Amino acid sequence: MSVQAVLAELPAIDWITDPALVRQRSRDFFWYSPVLKRQLNGVTAEAVACPRDEAEVIAIMAACVKHQVPLTPRGAGTGNYGQAMPLKGGIVLDLMGLNRVIWTKPGVVRAQAGIKLIELDAITRREVRGELRFHPSTKRTASLGGFIAGGSSGIGSCTYGKLREPGNILGLRVVTMEAQPRVLELRGAEIDKANHAYGTNGVITELEMPLAPAWDWIDVLSEFPDTISAARFSEALVASDGIVKKMAGVVAPGVAQRYFKPFLGMLVPGTATSLAMVAEPFLELLPPLLARFGGRQVHAAPTEAAETPLYEFTWNHTTLQALKVDRSLTYLQSLFPAPHHFDLIAKMDALFGDEVMQHLEFVRLGGVVSCFGLQLVRFTTEERLAEIIRIHEEAGVPVFNPHAFTLEEGGMKRIDSEQLDFKRIADPNGLLNPGKMIAWDDPDWTPERKRGFYLYGQADAPAVEEVLE
Ligand code: FAD
Repeated sequence: MSVQAVLAELPAIDWITDPALVRQRSRDFFWYSPVLKRQLNGVTAEAVACPRDEAEVIAIMAACVKHQVPLTPRGAGTGNYGQAMPLKGGIVLDLMGLNRVIWTKPGVVRAQAGIKLIELDAITRREVRGELRFHPSTKRTASLGGFIAGGSSGIGSCTYGKLREPGNILGLRVVTMEAQPRVLELRGAEIDKANHAYGTNGVITELEMPLAPAWDWIDVLSEFPDTISAARFSEALVASDGIVKKMAGVVAPGVAQRYFKPFLGMLVPGTATSLAMVAEPFLELLPPLLARFGGRQVHAAPTEAAETPLYEFTWNHTTLQALKVDRSLTYLQSLFPAPHHFDLIAKMDALFGDEVMQHLEFVRLGGVVSCFGLQLVRFTTEERLAEIIRIHEEAGVPVFNPHAFTLEEGGMKRIDSEQLDFKRIADPNGLLNPGKMIAWDDPDWTPERKRGFYLYGQADAPAVEEVLE
């Protein structure tokens, strides 16, 4: 492999080679996890390529194949499992320069992958009175391509579900990592070949996304006597199909009071908090719904006018707000399956007390109202974290491990043979974001099989140097 040979071959590309800047662009929010922090802290590329258009992307990819240089795509670098970190060095492909909207029409937008979600939103609102059906809580910083390649759901998933639900992405334009890269348009069921694949099997240059009607959203913060009452309210809100809403989250007593700085002093100590976004015309329907579950509205204000929108206290932002106050915290990502979700939440509360603080997000999965847990965890040791995950899973609460950097150990929990087959065609040399798809190295992997650095949370987990081998 010779990064220098790629640089020499493409002098017209905008390169970053200053080691400090390259290291900065080789990192994401992996440090959310104490496990990933230990494993990945030393990871860095040798150079960062900043293409301005698809032709430059193709030229960089062809040169990397010629010189057998690993290439790791990157959007804004807000992924929180080290997805965008170049485990085998090589070159980081920064796609933020591909930031144009190609076209809009009522209900649909086509845009380049590097556009920031906040900028996309402003354009679709202005041109067609539409907005993305849902967005991550990193809307103000993340890119569209990074959300599709590395994210899954977020603000609006209470109505539209996850990115994996058919219809939530309409088209992906993908460049293959071959000696002569091809440009493929994936549509319909084919989209899942590259959707949430961490950029391991193609570089997305354009996306076609469905839009929802754009509303004036209102942030609503309410308090409840306990977590379960707040959760029952949020579930009822999501199930109320007539009320247009975009968010229904809950945090346990003490969480907002300790960690949500702008709201300190606003909430009665010992109460649980619900965080919701509803469309302005429907705000008047909330007080009776709140009263049914013993809740009380304490704050309502337009999302647009807020210095920090309420969605930046939900999803993975809850953890960020908490980390700003207490660096010893970390988190889980889990599902409390219906119909026993409330019993399971109460059971986990009884088992862990203040060590695992509930943070719930209500969404629709396959049309069914479902309860995700993004619990805050008081971290002590990696062994205890692994034990907390094991106890949840044994109780029937699956954990989508946010302390692992591979596709399979995180959200997927299995090998995605469709994505593996596509990688065999689109990246036959295994140069794209190497190390993130276990199946590429071990097609027979199962979660039960323990091997090498893919193991999560083992006392003998290797040091960073070994990960980089
Ligand atoms: P990056 O982090 O740069 O990249 C993400 C992955 O996509 C990497 O594997 C990268 O290699 C790959 N990639 C990037 N661009 C391309 C491309 N054009 N082609 C192919 N591969 C590409 N996620 C959610 O789903 N919902 C949330 O609500 C949410 N909230 C978050 C809150 C915080 C505070 C943080 C730190 C993270 C959160 N995330 C959430 C995770 C992350 O912010 C989102 O998934 C985000 O959309 C990633 O976009 P990005 O541009 O930063 O991508």
